[in-house]
This record gives sequence, C-alpha cells and structure tokens, in this order.
Amino acid sequence: MRVGDMTLSHLHIAIVGAGIGGLALARALGLSGARVTVLERAATLGEVGAGLSVWENGLHALEAIGLRGAAEAAGRAWPVYEIHRPGRPAILRDNGALSLRGDVSPLMMHRGTLFGLLRDALPPGVAVVPSFALARIEEGRAVATDGRTVAADLIVGADGEGSVVRGHLTDAVPRFRRQVCYRGIVPLRGETAPVPAEVFGTRHHRAGFFPLPGDALYWFALVDGETADMPFEAARDGILALGPLAERFVGATPAGAVIASPIRDMPPVTAVHGHIALIGDAAHPMQPSLG
Ligand SMILES: Cc1cc2nc3c(=O)[nH]c(=O)nc-3n(C[C@H](O)[C@H](O)[C@H](O)COP(=O)(O)OP(=O)(O)OC[C@H]3O[C@@H](n4cnc5c(N)ncnc54)[C@H](O)[C@@H]3O)c2cc1C
Repeated sequence: MRVGDMTLSHLHIAIVGAGIGGLALARALGLSGARVTVLERAATLGEVGAGLSVWENGLHALEAIGLRGAAEAAGRAWPVYEIHRPGRPAILRDNGALSLRGDVSPLMMHRGTLFGLLRDALPPGVAVVPSFALARIEEGRAVATDGRTVAADLIVGADGEGSVVRGHLTDAVPRFRRQVCYRGIVPLRGETAPVPAEVFGTRHHRAGFFPLPGDALYWFALVDGETADMPFEAARDGILALGPLAERFVGATPAGAVIASPIRDMPPVTAVHGHIALIGDAAHPMQPSLG
C-alpha cells in the first residue's frame, strides 16, 4: 500500500516522538517505502491518558493509513449525546449534524487502544529508538541529550506541545489558557451506561461523561483557574456540584487516579522549513474543547 502516489524509498526520515501523531506518520511514510526512524525519549512505548474521542477528521486520517476498520472495531461510536445546562431541559444532539458527510459518528476509546493499534501496525522499514531524548538538531542530524546522533534527510517534530524541534523554527511557545482539565476512568461494574453527555455549570466548570468500549466510563472536567498546577483536590467540590453524573462518576474516582492537564494552545506555526517539519501538537496545540 502507498499513501497517494508517493514513493519515498530514497528517503530516510527521522520522526521525533512516538505519540499518536508520530506513530501514524511513521505508518504512512513506511507504507510509502521510506526508511523511518522514530526517536522517542521514553524508555518504553506507551500512552498515558484516559479516553479519547476520534473525530471525523481523525477517522479519515486512520482510513488513509488503513486502520479505520480496526479503530471502529475497537472503539465505541457515539452518534448522539446530551447537553445539560443549569435550570434548562437537556438537549439531545445528533453528531451527524457536526459531520461533514452527515453520517459519521465519532468514536470513543481508551487512548492506549488507539496507541496500541498504531504501534502494532508499524510496517517493516520503521525502526523505533526508545530512550532517545532529542536535545537539538545539527546539520541534518538529530542529537540526543546523551550525545547519540541520527542523520536523516528529513527530521519531523512530532514531539508534542513542548516540542524541542519547534525551537529550531520559531520562538513561539504555547500559552496557558487558565483552564485545567481533569480526566478519569471508572468501571461501570455492570451498571447501565449513561447516554454520552456534557454538563455545563453556572461558571468555571464543565464536564463530559462518555461510555468506553467494555464496562467503563471516561470523564473529563474543565475547570477555570489561575495556576497550571491546581490540584484535583482543590477543584473536586466544584466539579461534584455539576450534578448527579459528576457525583456518580467523578465522586467514584480516587484522587490518585485522576490525570490533571493544564490547557495550553498556540497559533499554528509554519510547519516546514528546509529539512525540518512539524506535525500534531508540536505544530499546533489546541484547546481540546474545540473538538
Ligand atoms: C485534556 C485533553 C484532552 C484531549 N482530548 C482529545 C480528544 O478527545 N480527541 C482528540 O483528538 N484530541 C484530544 N486532545 C488532543 C490530543 O491529545 C493531542 O492533539 C495529541 O495527543 C497530540 O499528539 P502528538 O503525537 O502530536 O503529541 P504527543 O501525544 O504529546 O506525543 C509527543 C511524543 O513525543 C515524545 N517527546 C517529547 N519530547 C521529546 C524529545 N525531546 N525527544 C524525543 N521524544 C520526545 C513524548 O514522549 C511523546 O511520546 C486532548 C488534549 C488534552 C490536553
């Protein structure tokens, strides 16, 4: 299989970062015949995180690399969801209304599921080098903090929001948007899963509750705050005040199992310059509430 009509067999491409973006690109380039080396700072490949909604554009990207069917089999479609607002009746929204084609439901799955699909589908010709923390790029070579180097025709920064590669193209850095997102997964233990829902509070709080494949539910809560390191314990009561769904699911999540992520974004930057390119959050970190 090739992506489009490109044949890249003459190229060695180094991708910095084995996140969802880096692995998806590695598969696409590998299928087009390129020799690809993925450089990942972590010692083992894995994905921390809770649930993930794969939207229509993500499904198209998965289709282009031959993994849409596998993702659809592993995820849980959410064709409709409810919006709850204080003092008003709930609204039932049809996700088809948000779909460009009018018939595509987003998928909900554990991040680790999508990550595993991508990792396990790396084609021959793609090598992954763990424990390679990029320090800088020098004359077409990726240089690790421990001094190792990897030469490549093209170096792609898929190294996320705090991208080191981006520092070679621009001084732009993401801004903290005075919001922290808390996320958790709770087992349903055979209880009926609720309809996917987003709950808006009077001010400063908003949460979402999404059944996952299997017997579990993913929740997130976005909380306004001045500090990026606001602990969950400081935000918990405000989240629980969002109502019964929050009490039931956030209340059942041990504080130690909650992931807190400060929300940062940055306008998109020029993503290609010479033999360096950027993808994913390295190029354009966005607020997840934009969908
Ligand atoms: C709270 C929250 C909820 C979200 N929910 C959704 C959602 O439901 N659906 C959705 O589509 N998106 C969602 N997003 C956005 C999504 O998570 C990101 O856009 C996506 O994970 C970015 O992938 P990436 O591969 O570009 O970067 P990352 O996932 O950040 O991966 C970067 C990789 O690079 C590695 N790395 C970093 N620095 C170096 C270095 N110097 N050397 C070598 N390796 C390095 C890291 O270890 C990591 O493996 C959410 C984001 C947040 C914050």
